[in-house]
Order: sequence, then structure tokens, then C-alpha cells
Amino acid sequence: MAFTVLNENYLSLFIIKYRSVVFMPKQVREYSYEELLERAYSRLPQKSSSAEVFEVPKAEVTIVGGKTIIMNFRKIADVLARDESLLQHYYIKELGVPAVINEAGQLVLQGKFNSIVINKFLDMFVKKYVKCPTCGSYHTKLIKKGKVFILKCEACGAETTLEAFK
Ligand SMILES: [Zn+2]
Repeated sequence: MAFTVLNENYLSLFIIKYRSVVFMPKQVREYSYEELLERAYSRLPQKSSSAEVFEVPKAEVTIVGGKTIIMNFRKIADVLARDESLLQHYYIKELGVPAVINEAGQLVLQGKFNSIVINKFLDMFVKKYVKCPTCGSYHTKLIKKGKVFILKCEACGAETTLEAFK
């Protein structure tokens, strides 16, 4: 009995093997480089890929006299898709000093703050006011409604209510 089962299994294995050999020439064809690329891309997960490639910008910090300048401030606000004045007021609130945006789009803070501190607060800003806590996407909008901010995610649709600071 055991032998028969084994034998049948072997036979079906053989058939599968045989068939795959027979059909092989039909299945195998050469793909062009473009086709292979297209196939590879079509298999990538569409939804999460945009969130994964998002790179949180790093602040370039220079200290001049008694002031701290975020050189690429305008670009940071651009990349994060947040109002420059929102990010400006975030720094004013967190660091407790006055800050102005100059003509070159740089943020000029009163007082000396090193790059580590500036970037730590930038990371905190991104985590709280840009990144969706539900799905992790950075494609979000921040809308002010009275005394709160609504962080609306464009990837998953989640809405998060945050305390407004401005
Ligand atoms: Zn989301």
C-alpha cells in the first residue's frame, strides 16, 4: 500500500516534470530590457513607495555674531509643503527666541544654537506636523481650524487633530 502511494506520487511528479519540459519552449521568451523594467516596476508596491523615498531635509546652520541662520530654510519649508511662517513660529515657540525670515528665505534666530539642536527640532516638527501617524506617509496637509490643526493624510485619508501653536 505504502509502496503504491509512493509510486503514484512519483508518477505524478514525473508527469509534472515532463509537462513542464514540454511546455517550456512556449513559456520562455526573451524580454527586452524595457519590458523587464516595466515588469519590475509594476510589481513594486505603489502605495508605500512614495513614503519610503521621502527624505527629511537637514537644516544647514551657520552662526553669525549672536545669531543663528538656517541657510536652506525656504527649501525645507518647500520640501515639507508647509508655510514658511508656520515653521518660523514653531522655532520661535520651541526655542523661545525671536526669529525673522530674511530676503534670501533664510531663518535668522536670535541667539546661538548648534546644528544638532536645530535639526532635532526640525525632526520633531516633521514627526508631529508632517508625518501621518496612521500610515507613515509624508504626503499630508495641515489645515488650521480655530484652535486646532488638522493633519490630513493624502495617502490614507486619516485626519489627526493637533493643538495649534500659531
Ligand atoms: Zn496616512
